[in-house]
Amino acid sequence: MRKPIIVGNWKMNKTIKETVEFINEVEPSLNDSCTYGIAAPFTALKDAMATAKGLVVAAENCHFEESGAYTGEVSVPMLKELGITHCIVGHSERRQMFNETDESVNKKVHKLIENDITPIMCIGETEAEFDAGKTEEVIRTQLDKDLAGLCPKCVSKMVIAYEPIWAIGTGKSATKEIAQNCCHIVRDEVRKLYGDEAAEAVRVQYGGSVKPNNIKEYMAMEDIDGALIGGASLKADSFKEIIEATK
Ligand code: 13P
Repeated sequence: MRKPIIVGNWKMNKTIKETVEFINEVEPSLNDSCTYGIAAPFTALKDAMATAKGLVVAAENCHFEESGAYTGEVSVPMLKELGITHCIVGHSERRQMFNETDESVNKKVHKLIENDITPIMCIGETEAEFDAGKTEEVIRTQLDKDLAGLCPKCVSKMVIAYEPIWAIGTGKSATKEIAQNCCHIVRDEVRKLYGDEAAEAVRVQYGGSVKPNNIKEYMAMEDIDGALIGGASLKADSFKEIIEATK
């Protein structure tokens, strides 16, 4: 049985004070049916870790080298020191705006796994690729590159977030059928690459305009094991509604 995982990706939002207030407000609503978490900016991680009792605290990015001349970057051992257990990698915003490539995503995944931190690895097609009917090809190619050289056991512990770029921040969420079909393709590609055990264990999230009023329909689909949520994770009330809808 895969335990679903629902993570709010805050992106470049929230000060330390706002982070602590949010966590204190949301924590009493948590339940055991899912793993719930938030991915916060680096500056808020230490206080988030000190405040959170049940919420998982994730980082939103990392560098693949342990240390060195990489101005402005944060390494995996630095996250490890904070007790961080999860880290987003390969979000489409980083791929599109900050030159993240499949090669760097792959290196980051390796480094996180080496340090026993669960990667939440994002993939997904652009609107033009979707319109051209290339979704499946894009998903499979990204997975082949991003998951290269791992061990089946490592992959089984990962979270993979399918996030169609056209659905992110647009309010144009994928239908539950499209989301299910794409998450099924993700699992199928993991099966091809790393076998049945990894495919059955890996958790596949859907992300893209997930809200309190549509989360339930995604969670009911066979291959969807949770969600990565942007806008609707920023307000404690809305995140609490999501928790309520998934208990
Ligand atoms: P929205 O939920 O705001 O569409 O963002 C999705 C996302 O990018 C999560 O990583």
